[in-house]
Amino acid sequence: MYYINRQSVANQEKGILDPSVSDGIVGSQSWAMESGRSTTIEAIRDRRHHLRRRLRAWYRRNRRELPWRMTRDPYSVWISEIMLQQTQVATVRGYYESFLAAFPTVADLAAADEQAVLRQWEGLGYYRRARQIHAAARQITGQYAGTFPRDVSEWMALPGIGRYTAGAIVSIAYDQPVPIVEANTTRMFARLIGFRGDPSTTTGQRLLWSIAEALLPRRGAGQFNQALMECGSLVCTPTAPQCDVCPIRSDCMAWADGIVDLIPPQKKRPKIIPVHEVAVLVVRRGRVLLRRCGDEERWSGLWDFPRFACAGMEAMPDDDISSAVLDQTGVSVQIQTVLTTIRHAVTRYRIKLDCYMASYVSGQPHSHRTLPVKWVPCRNLAEYPFSSTGRQLASLIDPLHRHQR
Ligand code: SF4
Repeated sequence: MYYINRQSVANQEKGILDPSVSDGIVGSQSWAMESGRSTTIEAIRDRRHHLRRRLRAWYRRNRRELPWRMTRDPYSVWISEIMLQQTQVATVRGYYESFLAAFPTVADLAAADEQAVLRQWEGLGYYRRARQIHAAARQITGQYAGTFPRDVSEWMALPGIGRYTAGAIVSIAYDQPVPIVEANTTRMFARLIGFRGDPSTTTGQRLLWSIAEALLPRRGAGQFNQALMECGSLVCTPTAPQCDVCPIRSDCMAWADGIVDLIPPQKKRPKIIPVHEVAVLVVRRGRVLLRRCGDEERWSGLWDFPRFACAGMEAMPDDDISSAVLDQTGVSVQIQTVLTTIRHAVTRYRIKLDCYMASYVSGQPHSHRTLPVKWVPCRNLAEYPFSSTGRQLASLIDPLHRHQR
């Protein structure tokens, strides 16, 4: 059993539940046993052998056979870990295999053009990850002569790699005893110790990383870390966790106190923001006008058709659309038809995208704020990385245009 620390008790008595001053641990057991000497971390340490045994046994019986679990190759582990950020396992499966087929080694990835890397990533979202993987591959081949670092701090110095990802890579690939805390373990640890504060605060993070360290075995850390994440993902789920079959239920304070549904605390839903955008397909003699998105744009590094935001939600006058295309590309166009309206969501934005077909009038594509703008043969569009709405638009181009020369 785990005990609340004294500061937390004092705050509870004053009616305070502020994670910045308290560890936020509450519950009838902790209250009842507050007179004990153990702290939460000490109690976890006392129970670590039992908890490890239970989690490992559960993992042996229940683990999913996933392609990245068939290897301890650091390159494969790294790619899978980056792909799994913010993305579901079912989605990652196919991408993982095709990415490794396209770039079998870190040297192949480093030698590739960024556009080819983004094209492989297309549809997976959060494209910054692909650009950072590519930059990190170049750093590994340059700085480390293609040999992967074994040290957490060296991994953390590479683009796109934080404490969790570095810990996952070195523990899984090299079996180094390095702890990990990610979304699934955050939730499970918080419930295990009955932590009702905000786990994303500095105090919350410090506490949860301490739990991960207290539980970590000296040997078999990679397997153990995967057992923790798998149990958090399959059993200690965000809603309706399967406590009945949980291997660590007998030690779980949230379950004992009937407060599982309260942990972690509900976050305020972000305010939904409606956005109106226009995209324009300009086709001329079998070629279509494309521009590359800049660093400050949503689809940084990808290619796109002329696209811009509208001031209001009502339809934009044709002349205004033509002016915006001219400003963005240097090409004067005449709006022909409305092709379609695509409604899609990006984080908290609900976007209405009006898509138009336009004909060429005059002018030469010019670089927009140093970003390239150019005519691309319609038949070559498959080679260019697009966002999912960009790819939808590309599919609208009349097949006849694809074969014009
Ligand atoms: S008993 Fe329930 S709440 Fe506690 S760790 Fe297991 S699944 Fe999560």
